[in-house]
Amino acid sequence: MNGIPPIHIMQPSAKGARRQFSEALLGPGSQTDLGYIKSRLREIRERSLSEQTSLAEQFKDSVNKYRGIDCLWARDAAEAVNHINGIVRGTSAILVNRSSSVVNELMPGLGRLGCRIVKPYYTELGFFENRIRDYWDLPDLLGKGLAGNFEVTSNESALPSLPHDGRTIKDCVALLGVSAASAEDGSTFFLQHSSNISKSLERAREIVLVVGLEKIVRCREDAVFQTRCMGIFGIESMLLNLKPEPGEGNGIDDLPDYLGRLDRAVHVILLDNGRSNILQSDLRDLLLCIGCKACVKQCPINHSMSRNSAIWSPKDHLSMFLLGENPFMDMCLHCQTCHVECPLSIDLPTLMWKAQAVYATKHGRTLRDRILGNAELLARVGAIAAPISNMVTEVNPGKIIVRVGLGLDSRRQLPDFHRETFKQWFAKRRVRSLKAADQPRVAYYVGCFANYYRPEVAKALVKVLKKNGIEVLVPSQKCCGMPMIANKNLRGFRKNAEYNIQSLAAQIDEGCDIVMGCPSCALMVKREYLSLCDSDAARLVSNHAYYVDEYLIRLKREGKLNIGMAKAVQSVFYHLPCHLRAQDGAGDSLELVRSIPGFSVKNVNANCCGMAGYHGYKKEHSDLAAEIGGKLFTEIKMAKVDRVITSCAACQLQIEAGTGIKASHPIQLLEEAYGLHEQPS
Ligand code: SF4
Ligand code: SF4
Repeated sequence: MNGIPPIHIMQPSAKGARRQFSEALLGPGSQTDLGYIKSRLREIRERSLSEQTSLAEQFKDSVNKYRGIDCLWARDAAEAVNHINGIVRGTSAILVNRSSSVVNELMPGLGRLGCRIVKPYYTELGFFENRIRDYWDLPDLLGKGLAGNFEVTSNESALPSLPHDGRTIKDCVALLGVSAASAEDGSTFFLQHSSNISKSLERAREIVLVVGLEKIVRCREDAVFQTRCMGIFGIESMLLNLKPEPGEGNGIDDLPDYLGRLDRAVHVILLDNGRSNILQSDLRDLLLCIGCKACVKQCPINHSMSRNSAIWSPKDHLSMFLLGENPFMDMCLHCQTCHVECPLSIDLPTLMWKAQAVYATKHGRTLRDRILGNAELLARVGAIAAPISNMVTEVNPGKIIVRVGLGLDSRRQLPDFHRETFKQWFAKRRVRSLKAADQPRVAYYVGCFANYYRPEVAKALVKVLKKNGIEVLVPSQKCCGMPMIANKNLRGFRKNAEYNIQSLAAQIDEGCDIVMGCPSCALMVKREYLSLCDSDAARLVSNHAYYVDEYLIRLKREGKLNIGMAKAVQSVFYHLPCHLRAQDGAGDSLELVRSIPGFSVKNVNANCCGMAGYHGYKKEHSDLAAEIGGKLFTEIKMAKVDRVITSCAACQLQIEAGTGIKASHPIQLLEEAYGLHEQPS
């Protein structure tokens, strides 16, 4: 066949947008079914990965049927850059699109060859930078019914020998990472938000299409769908990262005209660059990614990441780490927001943990990783030595030794240890309060923070459940493992997880449900144990585990919640912790607070507070933690409410440090409403 395989461009069409707007006006029922879109996308992506080798071969054969194009294979970035160097032939300017495979994987090598990189996208849309400064400012376009208006708007099956408008061909090569490619017929698809792709195709003297292996799907129909999904889910993210870099110039128009013999060749590079290895590894799900960048939308560290030449998303963050190019993996707060936003539900935070743990197995862990990763031991020692340990961590020279030794920020106040832990309190009390065998019972997974640092929260939980006729048991348990996995110790995490799973499963066999009061522990027990230590017992535990608010709301819906609460007129600022949001826990938590007579929730804030456990204490992260929390602090101060409520202990500490206002756990509100807080412990 003569010519080249079809190159399709998709972009928001005015007609589609009008239709979507009118549908949005007609009512919620007529809006796009995102559930269906996500499940079809999942099918396409799973098939793309399970048949990756054969699809790549088929795509190559389909492309090679055309005489006007050559298809090259690049095992790694160096090989790809070598191919491109052969194509560039003296032209120094390379036009690129925003594809991660081009910008992150190939640009550094091209830079070393002395090529000038031009990004027409930035020059067209750069004015947005003045308006959208921060991820918090992004509009919720998806929620406005705009999904689905991305149409195939042009088909460049034969590149014009001259631009349509009579303008000249420029002396440059366009290097474009494709959004999707069809194995069936060799066609490629791009999503463009401005006219960057069409201009590049129209005006560059040669064109190189970069096809990451995971971009190849079975057929055109699937490729159209995948590309459309990039637009649907990434529509807001396109407004970020638009700041032109110094020396960008005015894009294509600034480039010199091409005066040589016109030979508009098109080349295809099939790029592996580690993808085949990832496909065989534990990190395979990373390749499900379609590059929509929805995961950037609410990522708290997005705005703070340096991205001089690279573009950045949580997915890129991990991909670049795997390629040895990202030394900042420790910055991630594991807030789970990217996981929640991703249309394919790729669990990026867990994949990051896994990748870091594998790296640490080969290269070792620092002393600080080992100490902070053993948070339970640290707390146990601190509690035994309290109150002296509290003085040691706050007063010189002990303070200096602990903080400097662990690399913690000396400006941050560490939480106090308690001489009597919750479990010690409970052991004394339970002997006195043992009840009848037919009483409903729960097994309370306490977690380290409530046990050692905030026993008052754990006590409140026991008292409130007792008030509702529930007997509370505290089974044998170890730290949930989050500090371990967060400090690169996957083996230690699995050991603790297995211990807890067995212990909690035994309680379920005895007729108990599992209740937790810490959102992070709940996330581990309900979800991460399944994803990192899948077993029948882990599934059993996950199915019977409840965050305490969820458990109490279940009682309420069954008409069993004790409503004998005193009325106290109070306005509340509610901060939703990231790990509770990741479990869809916001609704129950808010309903519980609103169930208390006289309580009115004035403000709900769902932005990350920036703390992430010990993360915000670390010297190198402390300023960023404060910066991320800044918006929340301002909102709290402006709100002028009676109470600030949040379920997460780390959020409480961060709020208290940033505002000087004490924050309570919702269970403490109930304790007060039942009048239990005044009873002797
Ligand atoms: S877990 Fe949170 S901080 Fe980490 S990459 Fe995802 S959104 Fe960003
Ligand atoms: S990981 Fe990010 S870029 Fe990839 S599909 Fe999910 S949201 Fe989109």
